[in-house]
Amino acid sequence: MNRKRIFSGIRPTGEIHLGNYFGALRNWVDLMHQYDCVYGVVDYHAITTPFEAKTMPQMVFNTMAALIAVGLDAEKCMMMVQSDVPEHTELAWILSCLAPLGQMERMTQFKEKSQQDPENINLGLLAYPALMAADILIYRADVVPVGDDQVQHLELTRDLARKFNNAFGDYFPEPQPLLTPTPRIMGLDGKAKMSKTLNNHISLFEESDVLQQKIMTAVTDENRKRRNDPGNPDICNIFSLHNIYSKNDEVQMIDRECRVAGIGCVDCKKILHGHLETSIAPFRDRYKELHEKPDEVRDIAREGAKRCLPIAQETLQEVKSRLGIGKHQFV
Ligand code: SF4
Repeated sequence: MNRKRIFSGIRPTGEIHLGNYFGALRNWVDLMHQYDCVYGVVDYHAITTPFEAKTMPQMVFNTMAALIAVGLDAEKCMMMVQSDVPEHTELAWILSCLAPLGQMERMTQFKEKSQQDPENINLGLLAYPALMAADILIYRADVVPVGDDQVQHLELTRDLARKFNNAFGDYFPEPQPLLTPTPRIMGLDGKAKMSKTLNNHISLFEESDVLQQKIMTAVTDENRKRRNDPGNPDICNIFSLHNIYSKNDEVQMIDRECRVAGIGCVDCKKILHGHLETSIAPFRDRYKELHEKPDEVRDIAREGAKRCLPIAQETLQEVKSRLGIGKHQFV
């Protein structure tokens, strides 16, 4: 039986943190058993915001190594680097010509990023969702795993697929969102979502001593000034991590004891550190191993691109033929 196809991408930020893992990668690992999955390290997306050309290759490598280290299996899914399959950008141009400017300008993420960095409002940033649509449609994906912040972009992808189909004949499936519940991982500052930019993150491959130091200095319930003050786990970032990493009875014990000052933050954090260390150690070991054997990562990326290329080429050829371009072989 033909399995439905999924596409999802991750920007090569160079460091994968717990938020990335719980927001996407953990889900990707589950999905590869049920769908025909294509996962991309989307480097063309990464250049829409300021970046360092010098470090880009290492960031791409690290991100690909991270995908493998968390358990993605090249036998069960395709993993590739976006720029190794140039059809993505060619289709993005075609889709850009179908995308209404007004709709692109209304994209929440474009507006946010423009406000955050008014010096860097480039055309690529505006066209970002068209490239995302191309990433999905080039594989004629049926399903796309999305977080809340990506729903609008997927809606645009569906609009563009519909528009193309109406104008040039039915071809693209309208990809369905696969909304998966993901815990909201707060940063160590307890104020904002975990993010590398805000430097409030825990890397998924953190060394044990750094992990311990980050947890022990993390913000907790700020109203709890002394050991004997009762705390409120509901507003404590450490407690939200316990909810993910600790067993139910332990979570209940901390919830109860924190409120009556029966447990101090230091002990509470030590327990969390123990669980987190157990959980991430295998990822860290595998990630290190892949850095010692970089050819394994490169082979997987090369093989992934090799498998993706014929699908992408077939789509692009069909699209161009429907547009009436690229039919005549002058060169
Ligand atoms: Fe947070 Fe634990 Fe301290 Fe309570 S005891 S405030 S849950 S770190």
